[in-house]
Amino acid sequence: MPEVQAREVLRRVFGFDTWRGRQQEVIEHVMAGGDCLVLMPTGGGKSLCYQIPAICRPGVGVVISPLIALMTDQVLALRQASVRAAALNSTLSAPEAARIRRRMLRGELDLVYVSPERLFQEGFLDFLGRCPLALFAIDEAHCVSQWGHDFRPEYLQLRRLKPRFEAVPILALTATADAPTRADILPCLGLDTARVFATGFDRPNIRYQVAAKDRPRDQLVAFIEAEHQGQAGIVYCLTRAKVDLTARWLAEQGLPALPYHAGLDKDTRRRHQDHFVLGDTVVMVATVAFGLGIDKPDVRFVAHLDLPSSLESYYQETGRAGRDGLAADAWMVYGLSDVIQQQRFIDASDADEHHRHVARQKLEALLGYGETSRCRRQVLLEYFGDECRPCGNCDTCLDPPHTFDGTVAAQKALSCVFRTGQKFGARHVISVLLGRDSDRIRRWGHHRLSTHGVGREFTARQWYAVFRQLVALGLLVVDSVGHGGLSLGPGSRDVLSHRRKVRLRLDPVQPRPPKSGKRASRRAAAEALDRPEDEALFEALRARRRELADEQGVPAFVIFHDSSLMDMVRRRPRTQDEFAAVSGVGQVKLERYADDFLAVIVRHCAETSR
Ligand code: ADP
Ligand code: ZN
Repeated sequence: MPEVQAREVLRRVFGFDTWRGRQQEVIEHVMAGGDCLVLMPTGGGKSLCYQIPAICRPGVGVVISPLIALMTDQVLALRQASVRAAALNSTLSAPEAARIRRRMLRGELDLVYVSPERLFQEGFLDFLGRCPLALFAIDEAHCVSQWGHDFRPEYLQLRRLKPRFEAVPILALTATADAPTRADILPCLGLDTARVFATGFDRPNIRYQVAAKDRPRDQLVAFIEAEHQGQAGIVYCLTRAKVDLTARWLAEQGLPALPYHAGLDKDTRRRHQDHFVLGDTVVMVATVAFGLGIDKPDVRFVAHLDLPSSLESYYQETGRAGRDGLAADAWMVYGLSDVIQQQRFIDASDADEHHRHVARQKLEALLGYGETSRCRRQVLLEYFGDECRPCGNCDTCLDPPHTFDGTVAAQKALSCVFRTGQKFGARHVISVLLGRDSDRIRRWGHHRLSTHGVGREFTARQWYAVFRQLVALGLLVVDSVGHGGLSLGPGSRDVLSHRRKVRLRLDPVQPRPPKSGKRASRRAAAEALDRPEDEALFEALRARRRELADEQGVPAFVIFHDSSLMDMVRRRPRTQDEFAAVSGVGQVKLERYADDFLAVIVRHCAETSR
């Protein structure tokens, strides 16, 4: 009765009542010995797809995972539920590794996490041949594809597994959304006949927001203070120098921020990462070097202070928010200079013309997303070949932007670019439009141009917004070799000759959070924390969890996820039986933690009823 058994494990070990998405189908397929590819978004519940069959099937489940940090968290979390799990990696001493191997041979472990390097070490496959095996799970399976940005050559060797272990089911799992990478995975792993289980890639709990850059660090602090005080988040910057500056600046504002980039020594990086993962309030300021393998479920926001390189990267980076399914924010600011910088990167790169062409198209798609007046989620999902209705949970849905017929403004801008000789940057052209009188303008004789002073209806900031959008639309092109001079792009002729209209977005004068909608921390709590005493109880439970985590030296979320704490607030259990009904409370956690958390609830209820 494998189905009954799997459901029993879901309830007893993990403390959940129902399957999520296609978990049940995947698990039945694997229990029957089948191979498969599982494509689910981050937070979709992929881990249970292999953990439950590994527990139910005889023998050990071998999980191939690219990063040690990721393995460690998983193993800690499983052990909290008394699942027999271990990780074999380079941090172990020889006797420790030998002990794990002995337990594997005897079938005494349910799950063992290994790095691909370890798997293909001399003699290890022979050793596995002598162990009873329940399954292989290949996590982050997109690392096998050279299309993806996380390509790992060792992953290509994984195709050796199937011929060698024909009877052992193999699951490949990934959250990667782009089609070429996905299509590449099964052939690269030599699993052409495996079944594919895919669910939509939407992350409904993430709220997308993009604003025009205007004193970005102030904007960032205002955003964190308004929405995410005391919560964990990631801030992405393009360069190491900017990471350092931003982290220092946030710290000066009293926020617990730490930098992370490849220029820091290994120990510092390690320490900062540990702080981030173990704590629940740290803001990590990082380059993209930080990310793959951040399995932390309670990242409440991801902020971009610079443009990512593509929508793929943006989706992957923002996807690190809200893995636990609770409300989270993806927040980005950018301006004309970011667009220019990205275009320069592309033009200055060593890549051949084809790759640069692809890179330019990716940037165009990203800018299209940034400048859209439509639902952002629709634009994102359409890019990945999926679709949805207007979501009601992005800035454009919550606070529809004002657009206006910008044809005349565009004509003024384009013709001023033309008349100044298509070699000046936006700053100079805008000065001319505003009719400024400066040495530079006189030197070039631009005070005599017909376009001098024709743009006084807008402020400089508003003109920057117009120029940014014209560049995003491809009507203006940035010269990459010189000093960011602008020239007319294809299609500009149609605008100048009145054959094409241009609709522009009006940037809000002062970027602001959406008017409607609650703060993410409130949204996360939804109905649970409506009353102030609920929030107080939640904080008390959180504090107790923190103490327990510190005592054991484990991340707080391996004890209970926030979603479990919220369920406690909602249900206010008073007995062991009632506590057992809380989501995420299995048999072992009931025994271990019921008393601790029940005491907090009882005390709280006594205090508030007084
Ligand atoms: P993924 O690996 O796909 O990013 P995880 O396996 O880490 O996602 O699961 C994300 C979250 O969802 C975790 O907090 C996990 O405990 C929770 N979860 C998974 N399956 C279920 C379920 N059937 N019911 C309730 N919560 C679940
Ligand atoms: Zn929307």
